[in-house]
Amino acid sequence: MRLVLKFGGTSLSSPNHIRNVAKIVASFSKDNEIVVVCSAVDGTTDDLLTISRLIEQKKKDDVTKVLNNVIKKHKQFANQTVKNSAIKKQLLQKLNTDVSELKELVRGLTLLKEVSARSLDYLISFGERLSDDLVSFALQDIKKKSTALNGKEVGIVTDSNFGESRPLMDTTRIRISKTLGSLLAKKIIPVVGGFAGADQHGNITTFGRGGSDYTATIIASCINADEIWLMSDVDGLMTADPKLVKNAKLLKEVSYAEAIEMAQFGAKQIHPRTFEPLFHKKIPMRIRSTFDVKNIGTIVTPSPSAATKKTVKCVSAIRNIGLIDLSGGIMFAAPGTAAKIFTTLAEKNVNVMMVSSNPSESSVSLLVKRPDLEKAANALEMNLLGQTVKKVDVTPGVSIIAVIGSGMRGTVGVASKVFSAAQKKNVNVIMIAQGSSELNLAFVVKDSDCKAVVQSLHDEFKLDKIR
Ligand code: ASP
Ligand code: MG
Repeated sequence: MRLVLKFGGTSLSSPNHIRNVAKIVASFSKDNEIVVVCSAVDGTTDDLLTISRLIEQKKKDDVTKVLNNVIKKHKQFANQTVKNSAIKKQLLQKLNTDVSELKELVRGLTLLKEVSARSLDYLISFGERLSDDLVSFALQDIKKKSTALNGKEVGIVTDSNFGESRPLMDTTRIRISKTLGSLLAKKIIPVVGGFAGADQHGNITTFGRGGSDYTATIIASCINADEIWLMSDVDGLMTADPKLVKNAKLLKEVSYAEAIEMAQFGAKQIHPRTFEPLFHKKIPMRIRSTFDVKNIGTIVTPSPSAATKKTVKCVSAIRNIGLIDLSGGIMFAAPGTAAKIFTTLAEKNVNVMMVSSNPSESSVSLLVKRPDLEKAANALEMNLLGQTVKKVDVTPGVSIIAVIGSGMRGTVGVASKVFSAAQKKNVNVIMIAQGSSELNLAFVVKDSDCKAVVQSLHDEFKLDKIR
């Protein structure tokens, strides 16, 4: 088979971890053609983002401190990951080249005291630029031929939407099939740094946080891979968060559509656009653990087998959410009110996670991330209170609970089962939303009620017995 194996940052969080990744790749490469995609070493992207913040705060000494830590860590990893001294020397040389460029960039930005969106992408792309070499040389150390390439080198061409770019698939396909095709023909294992590409002018771009998943599916689509494996620190997709539900089970098979809902609801964080490149080619994806390779994890397929089409497959929760209630009698009947509310929030860069309004139009409820709550409520008060809205009420500690499964579509009685599960725990449901896809029924409860309701739903739908 032709496989794309993507390793997350926690799978690369120490020299031992990296050697383990190399061993896994080597063992699967015996019977398969493999392309590796890797994230940055755990915590590196956060460190690079910290550097950018410190530059803007003009804290020059702190910038140097964090930068030196990043460099020291990668050199230490290089020294401890590779045993063969000739290979180690080459790795350190390559690292030094990248490190010099990184230092020069940081020096320039520190002088300017500002980081534009374009510079930020260039800066944060270094996490993967450094990690792809660690993995590639670790493979060489165990006698596997391997080459490291970053997103630009492999041929990922994107638009110039820095921080949230999208690939230009036609150009990307031509370039990637050339670069990777010739390496695979020579039995060389390519290790591609995820997260980044370059626009048509050669500027480095990134896909947004978690973007290495997206790199992996872009590549899988371009080389017509048979499967793509997202290897991380979870066993796969689960019926519920095992921290909330003790008898949560691993799901063997889910559809693309279900996985997208689950990813958005945080069961396992997957970059939201990860599935886009797969729709057309219908490539199956496995979500599995680096730390337990015997476990084959969850397979995500375009059309799951009939046996796995259950009404409800998963109960997930997003905790620590803020609720804003806007009320004001008949004022809401005025056209344009919703537009005003959303524009006000958009101007403050606040994303609304869920919204509901009643037909009498006397109130609107909105959910936002907890850190955005004060900012959002203040902006709404400033712009709307007294005119469009008479009252703005804020509740800081709520949870969204979502019940997910494609079999819910058109099935009668799911909602009544869901709410009777909440009722059994004597819990008040604050707000309800179901999209027209009917893949996902979501409702809001007080955070202190969350755990009990999730467990009660898991019991109600007998998810511990799921096959
Ligand atoms: N290193 C990037 C991040 O932390 C991309 C990734 O890991 O997928 O967001
Ligand atoms: Mg590199």
